[in-house]
Amino acid sequence: MKSLRRDKLVSFLNEELGLSEFPKDDSINGLQVEGRESVRKIGVAVDACEYVFEAAADSGVDFLIVHHGLIWGGIRAMTGCLKTRIKMLLEADISLYACHLPLDWHPLHGNNIQILNLLRLSKAGEFGEYHGRRIGYWGRTKKETSLSDFVTLADRKLNTDSIAMDFGRKVRNVGVVSGGGWSALYDAERFDIDTFLTGEPSHSAYTLAEEMKVNLIFSGHYATETVGVMAVGRLLHKKFGLGTVFIDHPTGL
Ligand SMILES: [Zn+2]
Repeated sequence: MKSLRRDKLVSFLNEELGLSEFPKDDSINGLQVEGRESVRKIGVAVDACEYVFEAAADSGVDFLIVHHGLIWGGIRAMTGCLKTRIKMLLEADISLYACHLPLDWHPLHGNNIQILNLLRLSKAGEFGEYHGRRIGYWGRTKKETSLSDFVTLADRKLNTDSIAMDFGRKVRNVGVVSGGGWSALYDAERFDIDTFLTGEPSHSAYTLAEEMKVNLIFSGHYATETVGVMAVGRLLHKKFGLGTVFIDHPTGL
């Protein structure tokens, strides 16, 4: 199996994933916990948590890449769950690398563009403002389709069970923002979006979507954010020949 120096991998990822594009992200993006110097096996997962760390250690992972890391804003105290989580990583000598908003936005490897590709939407432009910049995309279906057919496709491709609300439109122009992206709905009128797909269900989105006549699809925070880390895993396997494993820990939310 091929190996790569940890520092070289970190520099590659920092550059390739465009971390500098999001200086205001609450997530401390990049290397959060330093593990062994040589990397042979990469793990990718959505959430940094005990289940994932245990599975990573069992599979011989040296370097773990997650969308939701451990450090948000900074560390005030290393106690309780945080202590246990960091201790697990240090004892297993596994590096933890986090990539939050850059991995929603990224035009090649990001969650949103990956969803567009899976749902056969041709990219029309950026969509969905979050913390002052757009992190999602909107795209067009090949032809007008019914909401139920489109939801069936989303469920199959994202391995999920979406909640959909039909506000009377056929599906043609679809806005996509992964995770907890409901507020991106405000962008829908600007781009004549008829259908908005995001991750987590939001009560607040309902009446807004009803009045805008925009169909809503909530495909799950977890399910919409598996695709970016998986794309990064494929990239590292292709570029460096490293072994990669996706550690699945669905929340159903
Ligand atoms: Zn998220």
